[in-house]
Amino acid sequence: MSTGRVFDIQRFSVHDGPGIRTTVFLKGCPMRCRWCQNPEGLDRAVSLWHFENLCGRSGTCVEVCPTMALTLGPDRLTINHAACTLCGKCVEVCPRNALAFDGRDVTVDEVVEEVLRDSVFHGVSGGGVTFSGGEALAQPQFLLKVASVLRERDVTTTLESALHAPWAVIEPLLDVISLFVVDVKVADSAAHAVATGVPNELILANVRRLAERLAGTGRMLVRVPLVPGYTATEKNLRAIAELVHEIDPALPVELMNFNPLAGAKYRRMGMPNEFADVTMAFSPAEVSAFKAFFSEQGVAVR
Ligand code: SF4
Ligand code: SF4
Repeated sequence: MSTGRVFDIQRFSVHDGPGIRTTVFLKGCPMRCRWCQNPEGLDRAVSLWHFENLCGRSGTCVEVCPTMALTLGPDRLTINHAACTLCGKCVEVCPRNALAFDGRDVTVDEVVEEVLRDSVFHGVSGGGVTFSGGEALAQPQFLLKVASVLRERDVTTTLESALHAPWAVIEPLLDVISLFVVDVKVADSAAHAVATGVPNELILANVRRLAERLAGTGRMLVRVPLVPGYTATEKNLRAIAELVHEIDPALPVELMNFNPLAGAKYRRMGMPNEFADVTMAFSPAEVSAFKAFFSEQGVAVR
């Protein structure tokens, strides 16, 4: 497949792997983590969004819409998504950039070209491209193709994934992904289903298989998001530490602190946010205490 769907291609990122990264966010995810940091990446379908805080209430968009999908009421602009054909006319004419699509279709060549624009920065910093999401594995052929072309062009490739996909999708990537950053969120499968919408048997089987294939290469990192009430509990973190140690004590683990800033996206998109009242990340002392659970098991934790 030569076309894929992304919701962002972010340049100069420093949080998605080593060095300076170009991060390609692929749209669509089979999971529904309650704390998702990128809610605009959940659905594969593209939607039109209105940002109330930017809107100047000119009504220009309403006038150009060929399907009358927009209504300017006394206090807000309403989008009839069923009537919207995604023609883009309203986005073009809005003088305040208050309307936007939450995704776009791109070809392999377009992504490669965009990533290669940053190759100087990748070279000096030890960086490269990172595929994230959504869930990048939900567009497997496109991912494989883009990663293959970029590896041929000597760009190092990182995949951030929860590995909720058949092994047949993951295996071909072993030849073209330099570093696998694998999310392990909740150890208990029933609790995992409550937190993410899916049980974790498939995920853990893939984690074991990948760790076995990459043992001793340094090409795999386990990442654990710290989410109040779901992942960041003593019981869950101890269980994940035991699991990682049993799989491979040399597997490094990175704890990713909760990011309350994602709440702004939920507000902009008018989506319910279970964590609206959580305005603080975990303190350095709390994160150190969480790290201790991993160190006690002899797991290298960052
Ligand atoms: S054109 Fe833009 S600023 Fe004007 S009403 Fe429409 S969304 Fe708001
Ligand atoms: S994208 Fe086109 S159809 Fe949809 S609301 Fe805008 S102008 Fe109307």
